[in-house]
Amino acid sequence: MSSIPRRRTVNVPVGSVTMGSDHPVVVQSMTNTDTSDVHATVQQVAALHRAGSDVVRVTVNDEAAARAVPEIVDVLDQHGLDVPIVGDFHFNGHKLLQAVPDAAAALAKYRINPGNVGVGARHDENFARIVEVAIQHDKPVRIGVNWGSLDGALLTRMMDENAASSDPVDAHEVTMRAMVESALGSARMAEEVGLAHDRIVLSAKISRAPDLWDVYRRLAARTDYPLHLGLTEAGMGTKGAVASAAGLVPLLAEGIGDTIRVSLTPDPGAPREREVEIAQEILSAVGIRRFAPSVTACPGCGRTTSTLFQEMARDIDAYLKDRMEVWRETYPGVEHLNVAVMGCVVNGPGESKHADIGISLPGTGETPRAPVYEDGELVTTLEGDGATIARAFNERVQRYVERRYGS
Ligand code: SF4
Repeated sequence: MSSIPRRRTVNVPVGSVTMGSDHPVVVQSMTNTDTSDVHATVQQVAALHRAGSDVVRVTVNDEAAARAVPEIVDVLDQHGLDVPIVGDFHFNGHKLLQAVPDAAAALAKYRINPGNVGVGARHDENFARIVEVAIQHDKPVRIGVNWGSLDGALLTRMMDENAASSDPVDAHEVTMRAMVESALGSARMAEEVGLAHDRIVLSAKISRAPDLWDVYRRLAARTDYPLHLGLTEAGMGTKGAVASAAGLVPLLAEGIGDTIRVSLTPDPGAPREREVEIAQEILSAVGIRRFAPSVTACPGCGRTTSTLFQEMARDIDAYLKDRMEVWRETYPGVEHLNVAVMGCVVNGPGESKHADIGISLPGTGETPRAPVYEDGELVTTLEGDGATIARAFNERVQRYVERRYGS
């Protein structure tokens, strides 16, 4: 569906999905359970996957977590959930992957942070150990640079070189260059150890959108590795969602980005799946990937003094999302359906005609009738109270979907 040309990359298999320009942009998420708690982790992975996460990452921070990984993958398998599980390693990944080979085999990808694998000679040794395990099990790795844990030795060396240069740049510019160098230098090192070119994904996460655009544009210009996009520490609620969209959309619109994650801080007790929902909305809004029918609704104004219009827009949206679990299988392509729910005669008929199926509700003072349009044609006019109109419209949507997407 996208008219945005993707930056050409190699294609990297990650379990049952592939990251790269020949494949749809992959949605990722991450659990926040204690990975050694198999039951809790399986529950959360399943919820994230059912919400639409193509890949789920879990923390592997100690031996108990590593030992739980094969069981988590087994249980997911028994439930018919084919979702690649990525292990997130910091500090001790080289030890854990060697100590628990079953975890190394069960994971679909390893995430390595080059800023957290040790210092000095240990850095290169530990990094090489992880890469060797990846080669042995034919697993890809993501070299995930994060400016909160940027390789200190590399940054210090680049700062010193800059200070001694006849044409020094500011510290921020050196940091940007160090982010890129950390990612590319680590990838180079991984290939020198023997990892195949098409087993590497890169990321360079930063918490400010303009810096994110900057660092990813530099990476995109210099490599054909798939890029994992994400604004790190995006924040909570509306701020986190908007900041993530601001960070990701310009890059996606330039064809940069093969997999995305929205790093949203959930409210205490709130569902973790919100980050998946926002990632999907971002991809849908840019026109890169669709996951569910889209509902175009006007914002309402002084012409919509009752709550009928808001309730209908909400109910129809919920109805479509609810039906998707069945429709996805039964009506291939239904995710491209466009539905309009409009508040009055000003833009209602016009917007409804542009949609596949649309309804123009009566505004204040208008005759209480709601014309319905299908494929640009007026097909009926619904009358009655809000609940009656909503029910009748939902039935029409169901019939439209059967007719258009049914076999
Ligand atoms: S379509 Fe009507 S109700 Fe909706 S925003 Fe426009 S004028 Fe207001």
